[in-house]
Amino acid sequence: MKIKDIVAELESIAPLKYQEGYDNSGYIVGTPDAVFKKALICLDSTEAVLDEAIEKGCNLVIAHHPIIFGGLKKITGKNYVERVIMKAIKNDITIYAAHTNLDSVHNGVSRKICDRLGLQHCRVLAPQSGVLKKLSVLCPIPQADAVRTALWEAGAGQTADHRETSFNLLGISTFTNSNTTPAETQYGELKIETIFEAAAEGKIMQTLNTFSRSLRLYYEISPIENKYSNVGLGMIGCLPEPQDPSEFLTGLKTTMQTPCIRHTRLFRKKVQHVAVCGGAGFSLLPHAIAQRADVFVTADVKYHQFFDADKHLILADIGHYESEQFTIELLKELLSEKISNFAAVLTSVNTNPVNYL
Ligand SMILES: [Zn+2]
Repeated sequence: MKIKDIVAELESIAPLKYQEGYDNSGYIVGTPDAVFKKALICLDSTEAVLDEAIEKGCNLVIAHHPIIFGGLKKITGKNYVERVIMKAIKNDITIYAAHTNLDSVHNGVSRKICDRLGLQHCRVLAPQSGVLKKLSVLCPIPQADAVRTALWEAGAGQTADHRETSFNLLGISTFTNSNTTPAETQYGELKIETIFEAAAEGKIMQTLNTFSRSLRLYYEISPIENKYSNVGLGMIGCLPEPQDPSEFLTGLKTTMQTPCIRHTRLFRKKVQHVAVCGGAGFSLLPHAIAQRADVFVTADVKYHQFFDADKHLILADIGHYESEQFTIELLKELLSEKISNFAAVLTSVNTNPVNYL
């Protein structure tokens, strides 16, 4: 198995197309064609993490945060970013980052927080639009089942609640051939309509091209602007029972293993609906308010931003590292579901640059 095979599975879980515009998820440094030995999973690919990878025989470092966001003009080892890159290259280590693309999938970073908090009925807090496409295929009736089945295998037909969804319409197609009598020919066809995530378009096209070699198949793909509830930042869910706010925050502190929670005034008697976003998620505050969250748990909130919570909800900042620390478990779990005997270790280095007195 090569490193690119592991990455292909990772990108089927968190497609790079879902990353934010400022992000730099994907390969940071390394050789996709190298034979995969073992992965080290971390939040931040620091020098200490690279040393750990060397010591543990790992030639793939899977990090949540990309170590490079902008361009580098010189690599001389003058800062930790350059030293990490040099160390990775010298030791044949590939560094790969799954950042906002992993934040944006329904089973990603924020879902992990929901699971730890025991939230129920979880859904994406800010569903993205422009993620879905519609496919219409005109297909001879006898082959329709085979075409549909192949499309499901390529990733079509999945919604937030159902799999293998399609709308099918029987119709008559006609064509005229001037060399035959009668000139016009009519035949029955099935129009299959379904949806797919834009990230699966390559596989869908491959499937259609394969059938087109032996079948008269006409198809049309068009973008859909509807929001897609399976993709987007943040999540919202509810506690099994309403809780006293201070009791909730005390439990949150323990569950998320954070030494400190900064929060707005506890003005509600009870809380039940909880919105979460791992990392710097303050920009999702309007979504949390619109969806009537009682509490919004995120990180990196600035002083003036706390005022914006006003009397809408309780805003709680649990720390950036603390909110995402279980992402490394998540990455291992997700990849182990896809790859049997996935050789991976979680870093034992605490890469949190923030200390508390
Ligand atoms: Zn982060």
